[in-house]
Amino acid sequence: MTRLLLIGPPGSGKGTQAVRLSQACAVPAISTGDIFRSNVEKGTELGVKAAEFMNAGKYVPDSLTNDLVRSRLNDADVEGGFLLDGYPRTEAQVDELDDILAATGHPLDVVVLLTADTDEIVTRLLKRAGEQGRADDTEDVIRHRLEVYAEQTAPLIDIYSKRGLVVEVDGLGSVDDVTERITSALDARGITLLAS
Ligand code: AMP
Repeated sequence: MTRLLLIGPPGSGKGTQAVRLSQACAVPAISTGDIFRSNVEKGTELGVKAAEFMNAGKYVPDSLTNDLVRSRLNDADVEGGFLLDGYPRTEAQVDELDDILAATGHPLDVVVLLTADTDEIVTRLLKRAGEQGRADDTEDVIRHRLEVYAEQTAPLIDIYSKRGLVVEVDGLGSVDDVTERITSALDARGITLLAS
């Protein structure tokens, strides 16, 4: 069973591809962004705290995010594998995930890096803002989210590259094309996929 991460800038299509990929790999997709949004909608204590950061395009503090992921990765359905979408995003989160996985004895198999250029991303996110009305999809907040990604998350690519885990995939093009690129790259690495 597969343990994989999906990393990419906001608007690279991570969420869409995560759902498809989790089906192809037959593992649950865990999106920290989705978990935070659902907490915001329900008005939980975590949601109230997270909303403040999310609406400003900032990362939710590591302490809150790490606790959430640690608890989710202890659920029975992830024993056979998982796909993490949007986590880790900081070096402290990488350390936390290493620690969680060391305790289970199951290392990561692969890190999929989805790339997309900035102009394309801003266009996509502004379109999504019109369609979904997300509070963090205004142009100012989008630009800030891209800066935060460049500062805090892009350095993780180097960390995972040194471990030989990164598969880089061009996120530009149709959703089907991108899925096909990712699944071919995973197949080439010997990751087990369900026939589509
Ligand atoms: P996403 O749906 O992955 O774009 O996440 C939406 C927002 O949720 C981000 O802009 C952050 O405010 C917050 N968030 C999601 N995942 C994380 C994470 N791993 N660390 C910190 N904040 C996160």
